[in-house]
Amino acid sequence: MSATLELTAPFDGPAVALNRVPDPVFAGLMMGDGLAIEPLSGTLLAPCDGEVAQLARTGHALTLRAANGAEVLIHIGIDTVKLDGDGFRPLVRTGERVRRGQPLIEVDLDAVARRAPSLLTMVVIANGEDYAVEHKAEGMLQAGRTPLLTLSGGGNGAEDLADEGPQSRGQATVRHAGGLHARPAALVQNAARQYRASVRVEFNGQAANARSVVALMGLGVAEDDDVAVLAQGEDAAAAAAAVIAALQTRTESGHGAPATVVSAPARDLPAGWIGGVCAAPGLAIGQVVRLDAFEPALPEFAVNADEEREQLRRALAQVSSGIATAIDDALRRGQTSQSDIFSAHLALVEDPELQAAAERDIAAGHGAGHAFRQAVRTQCRVLSGLGSPLLAERATDLKDIERQVLQALLGDAQGAPELYPASILVAEDLAPSELTRLPRERVAGILSAAGGASGHVAILARALGIPALVACGPQVLRLEAGSQLLLDAGQGWCQPEPDADALATARQQMSALEQRRAAMRADADGAAVTLDGVRIEVAANIANEQDARDAVLHGADSVGLLRTEFLFIDRQHAPDRYEQANAYQAVLDELQGRAAIIRTLDVGGDKEVPYLTLPPEPNPALGLRGIRTGFAHPEMLDEQLRALLMLQPLSRLRILVPMIAEVGELRRLRRRIDELAEEMGLSERPQLGVMVEVPSAALLADQLAAEADFLSIGTNDLTQYTLAMDRCNASLAASLDALHPALLRLIAQTVAGASRHGKWVGVCGALASDPLATPVLVGLGVAELSVSPGLVPEIKARVRTLEQQGCRQRAEALLALDAAAAVRARAVEWWPLD
Ligand code: PEP
Ligand code: MG
Repeated sequence: MSATLELTAPFDGPAVALNRVPDPVFAGLMMGDGLAIEPLSGTLLAPCDGEVAQLARTGHALTLRAANGAEVLIHIGIDTVKLDGDGFRPLVRTGERVRRGQPLIEVDLDAVARRAPSLLTMVVIANGEDYAVEHKAEGMLQAGRTPLLTLSGGGNGAEDLADEGPQSRGQATVRHAGGLHARPAALVQNAARQYRASVRVEFNGQAANARSVVALMGLGVAEDDDVAVLAQGEDAAAAAAAVIAALQTRTESGHGAPATVVSAPARDLPAGWIGGVCAAPGLAIGQVVRLDAFEPALPEFAVNADEEREQLRRALAQVSSGIATAIDDALRRGQTSQSDIFSAHLALVEDPELQAAAERDIAAGHGAGHAFRQAVRTQCRVLSGLGSPLLAERATDLKDIERQVLQALLGDAQGAPELYPASILVAEDLAPSELTRLPRERVAGILSAAGGASGHVAILARALGIPALVACGPQVLRLEAGSQLLLDAGQGWCQPEPDADALATARQQMSALEQRRAAMRADADGAAVTLDGVRIEVAANIANEQDARDAVLHGADSVGLLRTEFLFIDRQHAPDRYEQANAYQAVLDELQGRAAIIRTLDVGGDKEVPYLTLPPEPNPALGLRGIRTGFAHPEMLDEQLRALLMLQPLSRLRILVPMIAEVGELRRLRRRIDELAEEMGLSERPQLGVMVEVPSAALLADQLAAEADFLSIGTNDLTQYTLAMDRCNASLAASLDALHPALLRLIAQTVAGASRHGKWVGVCGALASDPLATPVLVGLGVAELSVSPGLVPEIKARVRTLEQQGCRQRAEALLALDAAAAVRARAVEWWPLD
């Protein structure tokens, strides 16, 4: 099916063909086909009805998504991003629906013309592969009146079958738990893409192109529904068979262990003590507060479906607005970990599939609460059955949403728990909102039977500085409410009913620690230089502009790792180069002259982005991830590289490439950067570094260092791949120790390989944030440690107590040990943490 869309001129002024625009990116149609206009009026008008899909922070560009799905990018002027918003006054916001002719941005034409090379405004179709520009205007145009472009294409995704070649028809019973949701739809899409024949899936009188995930999901196919499959083209029979097989696959049979399977790590602890996995280090003394599971009895059936629907709608709106307020609060306080997690929760509350599933159940006669719980649990089963522990941890978030919505429906009957002045929260598996709705000053610690160190609660606990022990096993659920506990999360234990001596010792340690921290904070801005004069760069791992500010406040010398995935996940469309460039530039600007290592997108495997529809993989950690995903989606990689090359000054940018396994990949990326930089007319190139996070990269470090500007070791993945232990599997968390001698040997080999070519090596994995590891890494010759912003003062202080020569000799001896525990024991003995 195809539709025609007419765009009207956004400004008064003459039309200019794109090939006459003095910017190779637009002139070469790299942004898409369209037309430029030399503006003579000062207000940009919407060329069609649509939704503002993206608005540049600097107000010089926006994208409108039209009803037929076309993404109309309007870029005012050339190089106007550099004006940083001067001369532009947006009148709309992202997400707002606008009408044709509605004013969108006011432009001070004189001011912009004085500071930018050109005012030419480009209107291009950013997702042009699905649309054809049928007609372009010429001559003088009148804003809001004269037709500018006519587009054809798009539609509802149910493309017509090829009208040539043999046809093949068949039936399939959809076996995916929860029906054709995103992942199963991606599996079907992937099957269809392998063939030239066009394939259509028909259900309930509707048809969807099997190559379109959105169209497939839009069919609303539920588990056990029968669908028809129709293929046409020379390989029609094979295509239909493959799509039928994909539809009939049972995704919930799953691979790998469910994330909730946990056990307390085996360790020798005194009788009655409880061991667990440290999710956030620290000491705490407090009283047990039990947060029991929320399982209210809900009426299964209801008489009036309209009333139930309305109740659910109100409950969802109440929860949404509560979360939106929490996001605003977190952003105002610069708590980005919280705001990221809440944003993900908001997306879940507003998920149309979840709501549609609940509404279907209501229509079938069920009560609102029952229907919503069913919808959530179906989705939880899908997530838990996908074989990815990180996705399975999303099930905890969904259950959190379920609890909040049910509480809203039931009038929050349960209320907040009673807290003690110092409470230690004890739960099967804590939900993020359960933690954040409690006053921080009353929560002294967290203890959970299940959970993992990479769950959202663990991330929040670290961000909030609350000692947390997870994966402790069921014995924590036997702790009595109100009883006293001594928790040493860093050491991985908790002592119920501690005696007076234990309490006195712990209190002394806690107050000494607080004093030391205050002294370290005071010295954080100075350089970290060892006693024998070796300077170690202490950098920060960050995700965004606020973290960058935080890093500077904590005295970071630079940014050692900007994980760009945070810009890409939990949204429906990839950010374009302008949005990315704005976000990265904002980070550089916050750093006040410091350098930043920005990593190219590291998605795939366990890090999902909805719009990529990566095929489900039996072993996600060993599949398409990191730079491999980039090479598989060159348009997305190019867009990010262009955004990076737009940054200023390039001398402060170091690009880092994740998951490199051999030098050919580095060469390919460098070539591409060169090509894009040439297209953009740049003479300068940023530094290019390799992440050493798979064993082959460490073993071939000399080859990589010959062509890279620096190497940065990702110990999280390097440990996972060296020890063959899933980094997200809670039952392995206690054994997954980056101080394993095998890791130390790989780090030593990496440094040796790099030094052969005079290149430096940093560590940006979590090992760099472990003060016990600081002397070991310094001894192995690591020149840069990139740590959580809050830990910069402590790691700098630690470096200043060390002598590099001594560390070197001792680190060599550590390489001969046979277990991580032995390395830790020796490190504690040689470099006590006091
Ligand atoms: C690592 O693997 O150590 C790393 C820093 O990357 P990430 O944790 O983002 O995979
Ligand atoms: Mg990694």
